[in-house]
Amino acid sequence: MKHNFGAGPCILPQEVFKQASEAVINFNDTGLSILEISHRSKEFEAVVFETESLIRDLLSVPSNYSILFLQGGARQQFAMVPMNLTREGERMAYLDTGSWASNAIKEARNIGDVEVVASGKDNNYTSIPKTYHIPNDAAFFHYTSNNTIFGTELFDVPNSPIPVVCDMSSDILSRKIDVSQYGLIYAGAQKNIGPAGLTIVIVNNDLLGNTGRTLPAIFDYQSHIKAKSMYNTPPVFSIYVAMLNLRWLRLKGGIEEIERENIAKARKLYEEIDRNPLFKGPADLEDRSRMNVAFTMEDPSLESEFLALATERDLVALKGHRSVGGFRASLYNALPLSSVHLLVDVMQEFEEKVKK
Ligand SMILES: *Cc1c(COP(=O)(O)O)cnc(C)c1O
Repeated sequence: MKHNFGAGPCILPQEVFKQASEAVINFNDTGLSILEISHRSKEFEAVVFETESLIRDLLSVPSNYSILFLQGGARQQFAMVPMNLTREGERMAYLDTGSWASNAIKEARNIGDVEVVASGKDNNYTSIPKTYHIPNDAAFFHYTSNNTIFGTELFDVPNSPIPVVCDMSSDILSRKIDVSQYGLIYAGAQKNIGPAGLTIVIVNNDLLGNTGRTLPAIFDYQSHIKAKSMYNTPPVFSIYVAMLNLRWLRLKGGIEEIERENIAKARKLYEEIDRNPLFKGPADLEDRSRMNVAFTMEDPSLESEFLALATERDLVALKGHRSVGGFRASLYNALPLSSVHLLVDVMQEFEEKVKK
C-alpha cells in the first residue's frame, strides 16, 4: 500500500474508493452506473440533498447560508467573488499570504480596485502578517486560511469591519470553524473533500444581489442558488464521491475527532523536523500549517537521496512545490497517523545512514 502525501488531488479513505468503484458499475441497485444516471433523477437529487446536509451538519452552517456545488475550481472563485460581491468602482481588501492569495489578488484586479492590506512576500511567505488595517469602505476582506504551497495557516478569523471571504481550499473540514464569522467560504474539493471537478461555495444570502451588475448567469451565484446547483449539469461523480467521504467523516466522529487526529499528525511530524539535525521547517512556529507541512534539509544535496529512500518505503508525493523546493507532507483528513509514523521512521533511518 502506498502512503499518499500529495497536496491535491489528495488521498481519500480506501473504503470510499471501494464504494465509488461499486457505484460505477451499479449505483444504488438502479442497474445503472453513477456515470450515466441523469442529474435530474430522484436518486441523484437524493445524493445532492445528502451531501448538502452533511456539510451543513459537519460545519453547523446557519440556515441563511446557501451551499453550492460548482465547477471551475477555486480559481474560478477568484473571479466570481469580486463579480458577485462588488459594485462597479467599489474597493476590495486582500491579505497576501502566499501564491494562491496573490493569484486571487491578480484576478480580482481584473474586476475592480484591490487594496492589499499586508503581504508576507518580503519574508518569502514563511509567516502570516499580523498587523494591518482593513478599510471599512471596501466590499469585503479576502484571505486564504491555509497556504498549501508555503505551509502556513491562519487559525483565527481576522477581525474585520467588513464581510470576510475565505479561500479554504486546503483546510476546510480539517478543524472547527464558525461559519457565521464569514460572508463567503469557497474550496476546491480536491484537497480535503473529494475528487477534482467540484468546488464548494458557502455564502451568506444577505450579501448577494446588491451589485447592480448584470453578470453572465453561469457566473452569478444567484442562478446557482435558484437552480439548487443544477443550473448546468453538475459534476455528478465528484459530488457522489464527496458524499461518501463526508459520510466517512461523520462516522469517524465528525470535525471534533478529525481535528484531534490532525493535531496529533502535525505535532508528530514537526517534532521530528525540529529534533532531527538534517531537517528544518521554514515556516514560523506559530503559523505552521497542520495540513501541509513544508520542510527542507540543512544540506540540500541530500534531498534526492532522502526522497529516493522515502519512495522505496512507499511514501509518495513528498516533493515540495516547484516554487519552494524541499519537501511537503500533506496530512489531509484521510491520511492516517500511522503514515506519519512511517515518515518519521524513514527520517530517523536516514539520519543514521548519514551518520555512518
Ligand atoms: C489548490 C488551491 C487553489 C487552486 O484550486 P483549483 O481548484 O485548482 O482552482 C486555490 N487556493 C488554494 C488555497 C489551493 O490550495
